[in-house]
Amino acid sequence: MNNFTKQKTSRLGVMGGTFDPIHYGHLVAAEMARSEFKLSKVLFIPTGIPPHKDRLDISAGEFRLEMVERAIEDNPVFACSAMEIERQGPSYTVETLRLLSKIWPEHELYFITGTDALREIFSWREAEEILTMIQFIGAARPGFDAKDFLQYVRQEHPEIVDKIHYLEVPALAISSTDIRRRVKNKQPIRYLLPEAVRLYIEQKNLYR
Ligand code: ATP
Ligand code: MG
Repeated sequence: MNNFTKQKTSRLGVMGGTFDPIHYGHLVAAEMARSEFKLSKVLFIPTGIPPHKDRLDISAGEFRLEMVERAIEDNPVFACSAMEIERQGPSYTVETLRLLSKIWPEHELYFITGTDALREIFSWREAEEILTMIQFIGAARPGFDAKDFLQYVRQEHPEIVDKIHYLEVPALAISSTDIRRRVKNKQPIRYLLPEAVRLYIEQKNLYR
């Protein structure tokens, strides 16, 4: 069997994000995607310098990575990778995906996003290349309807319709932006994210 005919035997979920900080919106999306699409693992990959973010005050990679580690500690099928944080220069998903396919050639890759990020995928660097390599799972996110986007894909890009999957999840109107704002304003963030992450934010004095 050569490389081209080799069967992909299992599915790996990949969730990229700034994770500044990680919260239950991310974790619920990852867990529901894992179960619905029978993913053997979900790999969380915090971005290095995100090409799409114009925030200048983004927390150091080591803090964001540590928060992800703490958040997924109790789930044996969740893992995280520092590959983007350790890479020099901006993080482009296409490079990450190329590397992952090299490391795990037997895995089919499923990239998990919220519906806000899903709507943007055509603007990603080498979007067409990405769409030939992997499958996308767009988890419902309050305020970001995917209907128009999915209609657009059906009409304009019928060749990839079956690679883009919409996933209904219990909607959580939680965002990292809101959590950072709450910390700054001394409002509660408990129950929006794992307690271990909340304690770390307190300990490191993040988002003050
Ligand atoms: P920020 O407010 O800083 O943009 P965020 O909450 O959007 O943070 P990101 O790190 O930007 O979190 O998101 C990483 C991925 O997780 C994206 O694909 C995003 O769509 C998805 N995501 C984030 N929050 C939710 C949520 N509440 N429900 C579903 N998906 C989510
Ligand atoms: Mg975001």
